[in-house]
Amino acid sequence: MAKKYKNKINKIRSFALSLIFIGFVIMYGAIFFRENQLLVLIFMTLGLLCIIGSTVVYGWIGLLSTKAVQVVCPNCNRHTKVLGRVDMCMYCNEPLTLDPALEGKDFDQDYNKKKI
Ligand SMILES: [Zn+2]
Repeated sequence: MAKKYKNKINKIRSFALSLIFIGFVIMYGAIFFRENQLLVLIFMTLGLLCIIGSTVVYGWIGLLSTKAVQVVCPNCNRHTKVLGRVDMCMYCNEPLTLDPALEGKDFDQDYNKKKI
């Protein structure tokens, strides 16, 4: 089983985290342009936008989490959240499905898009 897929909530969370990181890097970059007030302003605004964007994404995760179905992973016996028809366990990346028709089939991210 390919382990390239990740739990969706985890994936969005790491995206939000990297957005904060990028925001701080951009703001830090403003130091190099301190002679040019306009550039500093642009960098600061961009950095701030990234951090605001990350906050929005975090809020979105919170919203998604309430919609996600909590299940006990059969592989590691921990509580994880499933988003959509198929998703990965947050802890061990075990593919999980809410659709009995898909049970036992090879995991495919496309199951979330296509109606099979
Ligand atoms: Zn698991």
